[in-house]
Amino acid sequence: MTIHFDCTQCGKCCHNLRLTLSVDEAITWAGRGHAVQILAEALPWPADPEPETPQSVYDKARSFPGTSGDIPVRIAIALVAYHDGPCPHLQPDMRCGNYEARPRICRIYPLERRPLTAWTPQDRLCPPEAWDDDLPVLVRDGEIADPEAVSIIEAHRRVALEDVPDLAAACEALGVDKAAFANEGLAVHAPDPLLLAETLQSVRDSARCPTAARSWTILTNRGQTLSLLQQAGCLAELVTQGPDYLGSFADEA
Ligand code: SF4
Ligand code: SF4
Repeated sequence: MTIHFDCTQCGKCCHNLRLTLSVDEAITWAGRGHAVQILAEALPWPADPEPETPQSVYDKARSFPGTSGDIPVRIAIALVAYHDGPCPHLQPDMRCGNYEARPRICRIYPLERRPLTAWTPQDRLCPPEAWDDDLPVLVRDGEIADPEAVSIIEAHRRVALEDVPDLAAACEALGVDKAAFANEGLAVHAPDPLLLAETLQSVRDSARCPTAARSWTILTNRGQTLSLLQQAGCLAELVTQGPDYLGSFADEA
């Protein structure tokens, strides 16, 4: 399959989004006073799966160990630049005012940042005319045509895994201890931007390692999931959709 693409500069991908940032990118972004959220997921992880799968290897690599009640879990953290409306760097003509220093995620779109995740033009924000057949080739036979885009995606994914210990230490320093049940939602933590930037920089400078696996409360907005988690011995809490919890499913008491 061949996908053609050229950016129309419609600006849709610079509005109302959560942009995944590395620790270094988040230090810069939050250090300017812009909002950066901490998104947390918990994966119950009593033992490594046997046999391992590409997904389980990736899930382990992108997470750090914790506990929830009696159960070992793994916690996956993402730092995201959050803007409700236009990005603070977006100019009136829809050009980026931070073009040279924009985060990797802005250079990747509309390609997929995550491994093991399929995507199609239809699930992107870009308008139909951005995909016309007479535009440059973006993907040919499943392979990204531009070697520079390939290297940016590889760097984004590599750094995301390298950042995991610092994310664990930052959560400990900030007292972040609630995470959504994985694949059902995301717990949202919104620290003061400057405090977050200072904390991340401090963790970075000190190469601080988190102490032993910390205790986490697992959040869900589904009563049935809550019961299953509690029966399994997890520390769990029922929540509702809102600024602190982004659920993939409607609230179910
Ligand atoms: S940094 Fe630039 S490219 Fe990225 S969302 Fe903001 S305006 Fe858009
Ligand atoms: S949504 Fe697509 S076409 Fe529009 S500015 Fe972003 S990358 Fe370009």
